[in-house]
Amino acid sequence: MRNVVVVGAGLAGFRFAQDLRDAGYTESLTVVGDELDRPYDRPPLSKQLLSGAYTEEQCALAGDVADAIWKLGRRAARLDRDRHLVILDDGEEIPYDGLLIATGRRAREWPGVLPHAGVHMLRNLADTAAFRASIGEAAKVVIIGAGFIGCEVAATLRNEGADVTVVGVSAYPMPVMGPDVGARAIAIHEAHGVDFRLGTGVAAVEGDETVTGVRLDSGEVLPATVVLIAVGSVPNSEWLEGSGLAVDGGVVSCDITCTVLDEAGRPVPEIMAAGDVAAWPHPHGRGAVCIEHWSNARDMADLAARNLLVDVPDRAPMAALASVPTFWSDQYNVKIKSAGYLRAADRWTVVSEDVEKPSLLVEGHRGDELVAAVGFNMNRSIITYHRSLAAEGAAV
Ligand SMILES: Cc1cc2nc3c(=O)[nH]c(=O)nc-3n(C[C@H](O)[C@H](O)[C@H](O)COP(=O)(O)OP(=O)(O)OC[C@H]3O[C@@H](n4cnc5c(N)ncnc54)[C@H](O)[C@@H]3O)c2cc1C
Repeated sequence: MRNVVVVGAGLAGFRFAQDLRDAGYTESLTVVGDELDRPYDRPPLSKQLLSGAYTEEQCALAGDVADAIWKLGRRAARLDRDRHLVILDDGEEIPYDGLLIATGRRAREWPGVLPHAGVHMLRNLADTAAFRASIGEAAKVVIIGAGFIGCEVAATLRNEGADVTVVGVSAYPMPVMGPDVGARAIAIHEAHGVDFRLGTGVAAVEGDETVTGVRLDSGEVLPATVVLIAVGSVPNSEWLEGSGLAVDGGVVSCDITCTVLDEAGRPVPEIMAAGDVAAWPHPHGRGAVCIEHWSNARDMADLAARNLLVDVPDRAPMAALASVPTFWSDQYNVKIKSAGYLRAADRWTVVSEDVEKPSLLVEGHRGDELVAAVGFNMNRSIITYHRSLAAEGAAV
């Protein structure tokens, strides 16, 4: 292999490039990324960078990649598999004989009309800088979306003293972790002064030039000087259209070795994928699943780099521990951690709870099978669950 190209210079792309060099690959290595910044970590965007505790430089991913050709601020527009070329939007053609697809996701756009100013999203450094700059003294912030990012931003802004209302269509925040976690999250946020409007849709974001409010389906209008749209994300895979690769709902399908599949379901040995844009067949998923967690991007990248350098029959599957997804979120004095594929759970039960501390431990089951656990300030327990889920066959 003489020409490896990485498309996407986020966590997965950067890590893969580092791993490839560490594994002894010495030939040409090109990293294409459509952001101008050197690779950085996204978790601090809604936490330390938004609060001002970190600078942008402190979000940079550690280390470097020896002898890489960086093409930053450049976007892959097309993949020509017949000619083994990645084609950039300015027409430059980059030949490859090994390719990593790591283009991640972007924030989902609001489907309706928006005022010209005052409405934000949060996926990259520039978004965070603009959003942070908009939070003045008397800011009234409405966050549309009660998922992880919506809740983290609410916590960060309340710590800074902003007036925050969170609107969500689900009956409780972060619904993927079940109703008990949701109920505790509401209580903790409300104790810190967050206002919720849950179980309701948004009819419109109001304002002509600048945002003035958010009108709910109920007709209630929440006054707002700043609005954050945090309604999920969509995969960056449009550049793969027509490539013949298996792309399902925008997500690139891999096998258990991170080797990308073609439309007929056959592995394409020279193309790997990792991170938020990719799905792989987790044993608790029904088919291939996309796990939008930091640790999944890291683990897929590590495996993809090792496997690209060996023939398909010799490629290793996701290791036991890495195949159990883990996630963390920081909100106030609560470290939320999970282990297991959360979406597999159809029933949640509380194992322990201490409202004062605060702490909470819940288990997620599918039928009788334990598939996941979530803890508030229960780091050690979650590490134990992580290990036992791996040992008990959540792994492949
Ligand atoms: C605000 C925020 C907070 C988060 N907090 C947590 C957390 O607390 N815990 C946790 O586990 N996870 C968290 N995550 C999720 C975690 O950051 C992601 O899972 C991780 O970043 C995925 O890495 P990735 O490399 O797959 O994708 P990305 O980080 O999205 O990187 C993909 C890169 O590819 C670029 N790109 C896209 N299309 C093209 C193209 N056509 N050509 C060239 N480049 C392209 C993108 O611009 C981007 O730079 C958070 C995410 C966000 C946005």
